[in-house]
Amino acid sequence: MALPVAEWQGRTARLWAVLEPALRERLEAASLQDAVRLGCDLLRSKEEEEAALVQLCHRAPTDKRPEAASWYREQGNREFKRGRYQAALRLYSKVCLEDIARAESHGYPDRLLPKVLLRKAECLLCLGRLQDAQEILRVLESKIALDGVMTPHLTRLKKLSQLKVKLGEKEKCPEPAGEAHGGTQGEPEIWEENNRISGASSSLSLSFDAERGRHLVASQDIMPGQRLVKEEAFVSVLCPGESLPLQDGDTAWDTRATNADLYCHRCLRQLLASVPCQGCSYAKYCSQDCAARAWQQYHRTECSLGALLLTLGVFCHVALRTVLLAGFAEVSRLVAGSHRGDKNLQSPEASCKPLSEAADAGAGSRGVPGCDSSGRYQSSYQALFHLLPHTEQHSPEHKFLCTLSVVALCKQLQAAGLEAAVLSQELPQQWSKPKTCEKTSDELSPELKTVAEAMLRHVLQLQCNAQAITVMQELGPGDGAVVDKKPVRLATAFFPVLSLLNHSCCPNTSVSFSGTAATVRAAQPISSGQEVLHCYGPHWCRMRVAERQQLLSQYFFECRCPACLQELKSGVKSVVSIRNSFCCPKCQAPMQGEEDTLCCSNEACATSASRDHLSGRLQDLQQQIKKALDLLRVRKADQAIKMLLKCQMDAGTFLSPEHLLMGEMEDHLAQVYATLGKWEEAARHLKKSIEIVEMHHGPSSVETGQELFKLAQILFNGFAVSEALSTIQRAEGILSVHFGPQSAQIQELQEMKACLSELPRNIFQRT
Ligand SMILES: [Zn+2]
Ligand SMILES: [Zn+2]
Ligand SMILES: [Zn+2]
Ligand SMILES: [Zn+2]
Repeated sequence: MALPVAEWQGRTARLWAVLEPALRERLEAASLQDAVRLGCDLLRSKEEEEAALVQLCHRAPTDKRPEAASWYREQGNREFKRGRYQAALRLYSKVCLEDIARAESHGYPDRLLPKVLLRKAECLLCLGRLQDAQEILRVLESKIALDGVMTPHLTRLKKLSQLKVKLGEKEKCPEPAGEAHGGTQGEPEIWEENNRISGASSSLSLSFDAERGRHLVASQDIMPGQRLVKEEAFVSVLCPGESLPLQDGDTAWDTRATNADLYCHRCLRQLLASVPCQGCSYAKYCSQDCAARAWQQYHRTECSLGALLLTLGVFCHVALRTVLLAGFAEVSRLVAGSHRGDKNLQSPEASCKPLSEAADAGAGSRGVPGCDSSGRYQSSYQALFHLLPHTEQHSPEHKFLCTLSVVALCKQLQAAGLEAAVLSQELPQQWSKPKTCEKTSDELSPELKTVAEAMLRHVLQLQCNAQAITVMQELGPGDGAVVDKKPVRLATAFFPVLSLLNHSCCPNTSVSFSGTAATVRAAQPISSGQEVLHCYGPHWCRMRVAERQQLLSQYFFECRCPACLQELKSGVKSVVSIRNSFCCPKCQAPMQGEEDTLCCSNEACATSASRDHLSGRLQDLQQQIKKALDLLRVRKADQAIKMLLKCQMDAGTFLSPEHLLMGEMEDHLAQVYATLGKWEEAARHLKKSIEIVEMHHGPSSVETGQELFKLAQILFNGFAVSEALSTIQRAEGILSVHFGPQSAQIQELQEMKACLSELPRNIFQRT
């Protein structure tokens, strides 16, 4: 998804393999500027390559298809009738409900709107998303009031009042997923911005040395939970999500909603009634304002290129949007500057590594690359431009793929007549000036070559500097009583300040996102002088050292964090491999061995089993668990329980009792019992899940915090007052460290607490 589709990767790889050796050598050693030049020459003589790319683009159609909306709506209604609310909501999200003003001005079939809105409100109500339901009902009411003729709406009005009664009831009874009107305010956060690094706390300082490059160090003692960086992404691009092109011609449209249907393309807010782009089917916005700003800043260039951008992958898309946001003036200034650096220092990357200045870097940040003339490091294009592209470390094939992709994209920009839009991004007065040069469409203009060079740099930088923006997405049957959430990748972004943090597999910080903003908090006490570290993905609790090092090789470094050193040096098995191991099917002792055949560690038993066999059983088990969850989704809770209990029995015969999957099954059981309102059973299973999660991730980890949050909801619903209060306390303690005191989850916990403290009086009044 980050890189171009496999077919295009394959084509460029084959092309690379048959290049003349001399040309290949030149490409291998080429600077970014030369790579673009050579790439242009090459693509000009290989028309069939470009034709193939055009063919690939047909598989990702992004034009408007007006019939799609009604089809999705029908499918949504069908799911809704079957009680599959989450599925219905996803399908409704595919229908772009234009806001009323737009609908009226664009002649949207007006009479359809209240009907769909009503459906959606009903749906949200079933999901326990009371606030969202309320919002839609409000819009609907004003809409109906606006229409003079009431008769066609009579049945709807009745339905509306029914829904409002239901909503009222739900709000009265204590339900945590409900009213989050943000009335409770946490303590305002202590925050003093650093005067040398934008968006960073004053308790950090920027350092530079040859080994670690630029990095951030605590300049005073830091407490857990303290906010260290708050940065708005310089650029972000919504990842299209996992939906693949349709396999068979049977279904007219893809019924799986993707990120693109659920989140605003500009600000990444969750969509309820989206404002679609008028020109394409893939860009949807939360508001007119976002749509207009996106259009002005980049979408007027991107709109017609949707299919190509989807085909070339998110990295190319981020690279394009980066140069569009920076503006051509800034792009060409920095590109020209990098050429001077190349000549002076005989190395394309030397401008990023002023090693001579590194010695006195401690004195100030003046010598640190990416800083402006006053020595200030800002979340700007200049800083972004100076992130390391590692030009010489990428494989030549990869560089070749990136070069051809970027050149193809720029050629398309030119062919589509978008060059003026690209170049005049910051100079609106030049908008009307017609481009005079009459050139064949084959030759890229010098300006577009500069753009291509910058884009190539950005694509290469992304391999090490791309930051995934994740959100917690709701899972499960979603009946609102207990909300189960899982982090999903939403977008790929550049954060120049966040990029200053180096990696550790056991980091001392935690990152969270809100829209396109990232917040870094201390996850533990950090003492003055210690480096502030962030985990790029491979965390020691989730992966063995070999897997981690493998993943980290894309960043061109070998991790030397304490976890890696310990696991590598002493040869100790990581916690992951010990806990996620198989046990003997006969006597349940742990199975041993690194080879294909595993042996029981109990000598008296001496049972052996092939690794493949056990892995096969594990896969079967995972399939069964999936089926049980499907049953839960269609509200066959009793059957789901039966199935999960059977899975547990089966798992007990070959998985270690500490295996993460054992915890997951307990978690699922808790979820099913919660949907049945059997709170005690739910709590019992969830506590077992928490034990295992704690073992794997640690007692103050986000993962444990999330589990405690669920337990708090269950205890709350079951009126287990004192235990609920102590669980809320623990969850609050952990989650506020990771997400801050203002986060939605903390607010929800505080509301539960407030509600519980009023409970005795309520009960008293009732009797
Ligand atoms: Zn938006
Ligand atoms: Zn568009
Ligand atoms: Zn490490
Ligand atoms: Zn045994």
